[in-house]
Amino acid sequence: MNKEWNKLVEKHKPLLDEYKSAPVGKGWWILIDSACSLMEDKEMKPEGFTQIKEKFGGLRFYFGVSNLKDKSWPKMDQFIGSIEYMSWFICEDCGSHDNVTTEGNWKKTLCKNCRKVREN
Ligand SMILES: [Zn+2]
Repeated sequence: MNKEWNKLVEKHKPLLDEYKSAPVGKGWWILIDSACSLMEDKEMKPEGFTQIKEKFGGLRFYFGVSNLKDKSWPKMDQFIGSIEYMSWFICEDCGSHDNVTTEGNWKKTLCKNCRKVREN
């Protein structure tokens, strides 16, 4: 168990309870932090995530909508979508914004340095 990850789980209780270990690399935890803050919106009252994962190189959030008021749903979708979009510009391993690309057989969004580390 990672201390830093546990802190995030603790901060956003009970949203991340099922994630005993982080679903994605450390570089994206700041995005999970932001998405959790959105999920805690008192006015919109979303239900939380059904899944958080990396898909085709990008961060994806899946969340329940049955509690959302009709007007809140497109708004929440847009908010979460913009957080997902940011993941394309942030290295999943280290959080760097420099020289970040999405490539490889198994698509990964990484900076130049982290890609080198993984390839070796
Ligand atoms: Zn990196």
